[in-house]
Amino acid sequence: MASISFRHVYKRYGKNNEIAVSDFNLNIADKEFIVLVGPSGCGKSTSLRMLAGLEAISEGEVYIGDTLVNDYPPRDRNISMVFQNYALYPNMTVYENIAFGLRLRKVAKHEIDLSVKRAARTLEIEGYLNRKPKELSGGQRQRVALGRAIVRIPEVFIMDEPLSNLDAKLRVQMRAEIIALHRKIGVTTLYVTHDQIEAMTMGDRIVVMNKGVIQQVDTPENVYYRP
Ligand code: ADP
Ligand code: ADP
Repeated sequence: MASISFRHVYKRYGKNNEIAVSDFNLNIADKEFIVLVGPSGCGKSTSLRMLAGLEAISEGEVYIGDTLVNDYPPRDRNISMVFQNYALYPNMTVYENIAFGLRLRKVAKHEIDLSVKRAARTLEIEGYLNRKPKELSGGQRQRVALGRAIVRIPEVFIMDEPLSNLDAKLRVQMRAEIIALHRKIGVTTLYVTHDQIEAMTMGDRIVVMNKGVIQQVDTPENVYYRP
């Protein structure tokens, strides 16, 4: 069970304590697909980074299930992340890139092998396992990044504009793949996008942010058709 609860969460950056996120309150159901939208700099990434443990929380509480995770390091939060710039390791093969998180956790080799191959099959990249990232197209790289995220079925997925570098055709294809993947493995997902079609077609609920605060939380229909 991975419901998520942000309770009065604040983020202040730097010496001036500039507010990036202010009184962020959000309850997310297990397996829900949440899309975060809002102008650049409104605090979407900061909120997700606090959930992932990549950024300290200035004030408030974040729960995953019943567990208060404020002081948990990222690796203890059972979250997989995909970012727009892929962040693949350039000197590792696709196989090693996908296996990395499992190696880090000292998973047995044969288990790693099964998991990597299963993820590669799901994303249809079995043919590229021995290649280096630079030998792949942008879309293939994006699949490897997704492969790295799904190789270990997490409790929570965080995807920060995972498709923004892809061309339109591939974006449509990958959008469908992410929806299918979500249906198949049912992981609680937080997804940032600037693409209204992605937001409308993927989100169970949309969170609209502006200047560090949540302005609206509602279904895509209510956010986009009944302003
Ligand atoms: P978004 O993801 O919606 O574009 P961010 O969460 O990246 O917004 O940024 C929210 C605010 O916090 C912005 O004003 C940004 O300049 C500021 N900010 C983000 N990261 C840092 C940082 N590491 N140090 C100082 N300020 C930051
Ligand atoms: P070692 O670290 O001892 O050199 P590897 O990690 O290269 O061993 O390989 C261990 C197992 O992982 C192999 O038996 C193989 O099944 C699998 N494996 C490694 N690389 C690949 C690959 N590129 N494609 C498919 N399977 C691989």
